[in-house]
Amino acid sequence: MKPLMDNYQRQIRYLRISITDRCNLRCRYCMPATGVKWIPHEHIMRYEEFLRIARICVSRGVDKVRITGGEPLLRKGLIPFIRGLKELEGLKDLSLTTNGVMLYSMAEDLKNAGLDRLNISLDTLSREKFSHITRVDAFERVSAGIRRAFDVGLSPVKVNVVAIRGFNDDEIPAFAEMTLNSPVEVRFIELMPMGCATRYGECELIGAPEIRDIIEKRFGSLEKVEYKHGPAQVYRIGGAQGTIGLIGALSEHAFCSRCNRIRITASGYLRPCLFSEKELDLRIPMRQGISDHELELLIEKGVGMKNLNHRLCTGSHPAADQGCRTLMSSLGG
Ligand code: SAM
Ligand code: SF4
Repeated sequence: MKPLMDNYQRQIRYLRISITDRCNLRCRYCMPATGVKWIPHEHIMRYEEFLRIARICVSRGVDKVRITGGEPLLRKGLIPFIRGLKELEGLKDLSLTTNGVMLYSMAEDLKNAGLDRLNISLDTLSREKFSHITRVDAFERVSAGIRRAFDVGLSPVKVNVVAIRGFNDDEIPAFAEMTLNSPVEVRFIELMPMGCATRYGECELIGAPEIRDIIEKRFGSLEKVEYKHGPAQVYRIGGAQGTIGLIGALSEHAFCSRCNRIRITASGYLRPCLFSEKELDLRIPMRQGISDHELELLIEKGVGMKNLNHRLCTGSHPAADQGCRTLMSSLGG
């Protein structure tokens, strides 16, 4: 097997597939209240097209696939798609990121179809604040969905929290406390200056080091947990069952050097870096009938477009960066 290598000796092992740009929430940092101009139906990739790309990537050493969106639980046909991915020989880890609104009724089917684990996004533990940030009153539904994910064994459950000063910084200790008696991984994500989030100023960004300080002031020194893959630095409060992940896309210098991922958007673009507008269309060539070999060469080309670093490392005001106009909902985070 010839691994997929980028030009900086990073091996690509992680594929994120955004299956829809639609969503049933309107998180203020992600989507406008009115929604966005949805991708026309005929430009949305079919499941068999995603599967074809995934099969080629897995044959080249990708062993981790994440399904995301928009809100992936909204798209019909998801369960057979998961079964199809699960059949790929060499795939070791199949996960999905969801806002949890529809999770209660779908968790069992997701598990039975072969999904290994879930990330659920939840930025606040207050029903009122949830309605404010997502513009939808669905806190109870998401909480029930998280409980259900544990019940059906979709573990480890990871809870994604986007940290925003003045909104949920006061809840950082409460989120950390959730890990004491539950095997959950709470992952704090720095607010990334993309799409709608560019309306936030620098002062609303809370860096991973500050989040760590806040937690340590309350719970004492965090223990580092060995975790080689992925963007998170993982810690544990002494004696806790769960863990705390810090994702410092902006503050952490080594973030890009560990990057092992590529993304496919809902309309079939290969996106080598979340923070760069560079992308490569796979959908049109696929629909024009290219062979598997030609598709593999295109994927290699896309991997070769990965930058060494994202430009946000430079210290300029992130919101001013022209590379970040894309809406997160079309990329899947
Ligand atoms: N709808 C699903 C959800 O919310 O989990 C999946 C797609 S969403 C785009 C994936 C992740 O990206 C979520 O955890 C969300 O909070 C995060 N996200 C969206 N916009 C973001 C931003 N500007 N900065 C940091 N994280 C962001
Ligand atoms: Fe929807 Fe997820 Fe974006 Fe929130 S973060 S609007 S749930 S896609």
